[in-house]
Amino acid sequence: MRHRIAVVGSGPAGLTFARVLHRHGYPVTVLERDPAPDARPPGGTLDLHEGLGQLALDKAGLLAEFQTLSRPEGQAMRILDTDGTVLRDWQPRADDRANPEIDRRQLRDLLLGPLDVQWGRGVTHVVPGTRDGVLVHFTDGRQETFDLVIGADGAWSRIRPAVSSATPHYTGVTSVETSLDDVDTRHPDLARLIGDGSMAVYGVNRALVAQRNSGGHVKVHAQFRAPLDWHTNLDLADVEAVRSSLLALFDGWAASVLGLLRHGTAFVHRPLYVLPVSHTWTHVPGVTLLGDAAHLMPPLGAGANLAMLEGAELAESLTTGPGDLDDTVRAFEEQMWARAGRWAKITTAGLERLVSPDPAEALALFDQVQPS
Ligand SMILES: Cc1cc2nc3c(=O)[nH]c(=O)nc-3n(C[C@H](O)[C@H](O)[C@H](O)COP(=O)(O)OP(=O)(O)OC[C@H]3O[C@@H](n4cnc5c(N)ncnc54)[C@H](O)[C@@H]3O)c2cc1C
Repeated sequence: MRHRIAVVGSGPAGLTFARVLHRHGYPVTVLERDPAPDARPPGGTLDLHEGLGQLALDKAGLLAEFQTLSRPEGQAMRILDTDGTVLRDWQPRADDRANPEIDRRQLRDLLLGPLDVQWGRGVTHVVPGTRDGVLVHFTDGRQETFDLVIGADGAWSRIRPAVSSATPHYTGVTSVETSLDDVDTRHPDLARLIGDGSMAVYGVNRALVAQRNSGGHVKVHAQFRAPLDWHTNLDLADVEAVRSSLLALFDGWAASVLGLLRHGTAFVHRPLYVLPVSHTWTHVPGVTLLGDAAHLMPPLGAGANLAMLEGAELAESLTTGPGDLDDTVRAFEEQMWARAGRWAKITTAGLERLVSPDPAEALALFDQVQPS
């Protein structure tokens, strides 16, 4: 018998899950709160790792298309001192395909392909264990029932409370994001400073990271340790006020580096939240979680990769497993928890070292993980 399966959320987790099911000819309902694919800016570039995100794309039959779209040169990574001195300048080999970058919009469109997402269908909560299955409640008051509901609805999941009482907590690190357009033409000095991929500067309890996206677009993340209410006397909607406040926070850094903040177009406030490391739950028949909904962790290059691989693996096991829906989901959860727990530990320790009282820690971490 074919089960009625719904996935809530059309991020990397939900779309990869749906795309792999679709590839195997299985129907799936994709429920997305956003009214349209481009309702929100899609966010910055993602590096997809060979054994994680790329493996997921392979399972979806999309690896060749990814290789055409992605930017292997974007793996380049440069580290500068706060005075602008280049400390490390790592370039990938020409044939290096370990972690190529792709714009989120391109990845989303690649995964969307033939999928029929139901846009504008925000879910408020789900009720498992009803006579007809799992009852999904929508923001417009409607309800629908499914045999399996997958919560792939991100950090502030509305599905998670059905299986776990865990909620994200603040890491103590805030990120304020800004961007530069057409950087090669409009800001050639900054373009040279950033190089082909990413550039990072680490100071005491703060960091500035710039990442190239396609088309000369650059995302800049100003990260710093601060209490959650650090902006009490600041109007976050006032671009110039936020710029001044950041320039004061990074006072004393080289003018060349601070150009990233001086020329940024708008500022988005993103305090970094995480779920507890090794978050698990007692299995609830008919409901499970994927991606950030299951294991929100610091944004150090793993979250989307894990989300995609989990989506692909759960979909595959539903199409090839022995049959009992809950046995299949239960086995998947065990596998997801073990891997996500390892990455949550790595990224949590990584954030501690990258935004740390001792900037030498960040450099040491880079030397530890970067291939020579
Ligand atoms: C600044 C930054 C940089 C990052 N860089 C990287 C990187 O380089 N590599 C990497 O692997 N990861 C990176 N990450 C992490 C990555 O973005 C996330 O881990 C990833 O997006 C998680 O995917 P997801 O599908 O689980 O959730 P999301 O991407 O959050 O998608 C959730 C979807 O669910 C929808 N939704 C939410 N609530 C509801 C609801 N109630 N009803 C219906 N739909 C709903 C949302 O609109 C959204 O479309 C980064 C994160 C940040 C913040």
